[in-house]
Amino acid sequence: MKRLSFNKVNSSVFRRLSEISGPKAVFNNEEMRDKYSRDETIGLSYRPEAVVLPASQKEIKDILLLANSENIPVTPRGLGTGLSGGAVPLYGGIVLSLERMNNLIEIDRENLMAVTEPGIITGQLQEAVEAENLFYPPDPASLESCSIGGNVAEGAGGSRAVRYGTTKDYVQGIDMVLPDGNAIQTGGKVVKDVTGYNLTQLIIGSEGTLAVVTRIILRLIPLPRFRMDLLVPYSSLEEAARTVSEIIDAKIVPTAVEFMERNCFELAENHIKRKLAYRDAAAHLLITLDGNHEKALEEKRNLVGKICERNGAYDIFVATTRPDIERMWEGRKYLFEAANTDGGLYKSLDVVVPRSIIPTLINKIQMISEKYRIRAMTFGHAGDGNVHVLLFKGELADDVWEKNIERAQKQLYKETVHLGGKITAEHGIGLLRKSYLTMNLGSNQVEVLRQLKRAFDPNSILNPGKIFDL
Ligand SMILES: Cc1cc2nc3c(=O)[nH]c(=O)nc-3n(C[C@H](O)[C@H](O)[C@H](O)COP(=O)(O)OP(=O)(O)OC[C@H]3O[C@@H](n4cnc5c(N)ncnc54)[C@H](O)[C@@H]3O)c2cc1C
Repeated sequence: MKRLSFNKVNSSVFRRLSEISGPKAVFNNEEMRDKYSRDETIGLSYRPEAVVLPASQKEIKDILLLANSENIPVTPRGLGTGLSGGAVPLYGGIVLSLERMNNLIEIDRENLMAVTEPGIITGQLQEAVEAENLFYPPDPASLESCSIGGNVAEGAGGSRAVRYGTTKDYVQGIDMVLPDGNAIQTGGKVVKDVTGYNLTQLIIGSEGTLAVVTRIILRLIPLPRFRMDLLVPYSSLEEAARTVSEIIDAKIVPTAVEFMERNCFELAENHIKRKLAYRDAAAHLLITLDGNHEKALEEKRNLVGKICERNGAYDIFVATTRPDIERMWEGRKYLFEAANTDGGLYKSLDVVVPRSIIPTLINKIQMISEKYRIRAMTFGHAGDGNVHVLLFKGELADDVWEKNIERAQKQLYKETVHLGGKITAEHGIGLLRKSYLTMNLGSNQVEVLRQLKRAFDPNSILNPGKIFDL
């Protein structure tokens, strides 16, 4: 492991940053250093020495040129909703927040593309394209508060991944600034492109360690005309999991299939301040279907309904109006926020397995939870195999928690890898999971990642200490 050592942001560097971005966009007061020391990951905080809010790619080029020559670490940041510590400045230095670069530059109806700056809130981008009858499907549950640049850097997913894929399936091109201050443009508005290595896809999910994303070209699709959502209660989690496997096996591709087990209900209810429907159930499935033909959608709903009933569903509530749909999803949507505000200390896992194996994974999670006496809450994207597990400290003594949580986490990751899965589906490695990366990818593959990092960033100034140690 390479030992990293950096210089501090001294008064001369601070003055030069102020000259680049203007004094009103550069900060080193306690309040701002504290505010930009964390994201939404529980228990992680490192303070930067300076916070810069640039307004253009030119400023970012000058900032990185300066930081690279002065050997000062730079941590890019979107809107700080990350769940793996990616935007937390482990080595201090400069936090480079993209929040002011939030213009939607163009919606190109002829080419079905949008061009945007990285700081725009994902939900606002979606609303703008939907007003043109177009659709940008990736929908992280945080879409009202995260940025599209953060989504690109994390390769964010969402519930609609089952039918429409994730961020990586919509990014056509990226403008970026490399750690030495040079800018490059990858991809473009073209549908086909094999001109050189696919650097666009390399940057997606690179967690701000290779380049700063300054402009993004996104592919859009026509907005589906009809949508309906089903809330389905079950008496056991296994029945719900089996339903998902059968829906997929029947070659029906819903837009989304999410699940929540009973343990989650109370937490969600406390947060949204009302009781959930079917709160006596052991688990809920939330299923979205969409399409352009009403009749075909009805038929799909009937087929899905039969599969649900065959597997033990004791009711099916169908929502077709926007208020009903929003009400149905409210509990699921705010689960992370609920855990952060009311859950006490917890660890969040984001494992993914081939979707047919979800029932086995759920059993393993229950077994590990009992073995280590750690209360587990399980919910997530059943339709694409991605399960979120929250492991709560609860009443456990500090020393027991410290010991058991490490063991429980490690065992669950081992089981996941054994089942052909991955240790993170959408939240990223960041700081939180880097000690488990080699277990999942093997040392040869991690070494290839290190070499790529060295090629982009020989001085390791861009988001050092994330994903793997150098
Ligand atoms: C309640 C809640 C629900 C969530 N639900 C989901 C979900 O369903 N699916 C999902 O995938 N995630 C989810 N997340 C996690 C998080 O919202 C996503 O990872 C999101 O993509 C982060 O965006 P951000 O703008 O907040 O980025 P930040 O947290 O600010 O940064 C995330 C990473 O991206 C890098 N980065 C940010 N902007 C740039 C840029 N312009 N150039 C280069 N690097 C950059 C940072 O260095 C960091 O490594 C959820 C989080 C919360 C709190």
